[in-house]
Amino acid sequence: MATTPPTRRATWFSRHRGVPLFSVLGIRIVADYSWFLIVALIAATLTLGWFPTELPGRGTFQYLLLGVITAFFFFASVLVHELSHSVVAVLSGIPVRRITLFLFGGVAEITKEPSDPRTELKVALAGPATSAILAGLFWSIVVLMGDGTGRPGLQLAFFYLAFANTALLIFNLLPGLPLDGGRVLRAIVWAATKNIRRATYVASMAGKAIAGLLVILGLVAILSGGNVIAGLWFIFIALFLRHAADTSYRQVLIKEALGAVRVMDVMSPDVVTVPPSISLAELVDVYFLHHHFICYPVVDGTRPLGVISIRDVKHVPRERWPETSVADAMTRLSPDTTLRSDEGIPAAMEKMAASGLGRLPVIDGDRLVGIVTRRDIMNHIQIRTDLRR
Ligand SMILES: [Zn+2]
Repeated sequence: MATTPPTRRATWFSRHRGVPLFSVLGIRIVADYSWFLIVALIAATLTLGWFPTELPGRGTFQYLLLGVITAFFFFASVLVHELSHSVVAVLSGIPVRRITLFLFGGVAEITKEPSDPRTELKVALAGPATSAILAGLFWSIVVLMGDGTGRPGLQLAFFYLAFANTALLIFNLLPGLPLDGGRVLRAIVWAATKNIRRATYVASMAGKAIAGLLVILGLVAILSGGNVIAGLWFIFIALFLRHAADTSYRQVLIKEALGAVRVMDVMSPDVVTVPPSISLAELVDVYFLHHHFICYPVVDGTRPLGVISIRDVKHVPRERWPETSVADAMTRLSPDTTLRSDEGIPAAMEKMAASGLGRLPVIDGDRLVGIVTRRDIMNHIQIRTDLRR
């Protein structure tokens, strides 16, 4: 449904909860717990309500089979929509780390904002284009199956999928953030004004207006004695959209406020470092349990070699800690996991998001000069926004 920049702290669902499903093209597909709820709900609605109403007189097992298969292909359609955004992003040089499926669809964790309106437009349109192709495909099958006398159950399933993909297409094209249509609107205003802040503001206000309309529709449905569940659902989705629209704009403001801030302004210069030769047992006793940091740069003399975190240590069985050295277990340094002191904060945040590391060493030339944590950056943002008020 929507794409999200890395720094957005998900609020309605957590990025850290969930079940990893599989990987495609280096993109991890993760299902948030809320997603299983909606899958079960749709499968149950199809099995107990829709199929028995549309196709009366069949056995329970047939309804269950049709319900589960149709729900599966519906969620596969949502995933393919989301993947198409990600594939176009990757082809445009924007890394995508993972896609999280959750209650309202899917969110691709695109680790960088598109750098120009054209890229934004391409990434935004990929999803609706895919949904349009899927809808077209399913409608064609429905038509080709003729009057459905042969296999009415299957034809109904295809009809549902055609309808659902069309609905997905139309909803996503509504022109407000965080929907794809909102991204399209933002790209157009961005191209016209050359101002991403203004473009985001316009698209985010449009998103809030759409959320407002959905609330009204939901209330009308409930108060007119119509479908109460559908009404509540509209209001629920509207609240989510409103929040996401707000967040998108705040993100751009933060990025602007941080534009002039460098890594050297937020880093801690006093770093507790670890020599590569000590054992993991010693590392745990002397460093983890003493200093209470969860991650240390590994430095040989003055030369930084890597970082060692609790995560690295846990990969080694406990009985091998005494004979395994820090050098054997550490993560080696790469340009993706180190910062330069003159680098900007948005770039640092992008590296943290892409690597999944919350603490990155700062290296100038071949010397370790400090360390930056996600908390350092958040505190800095907090102070800046407080001072602005
Ligand atoms: Zn989309």
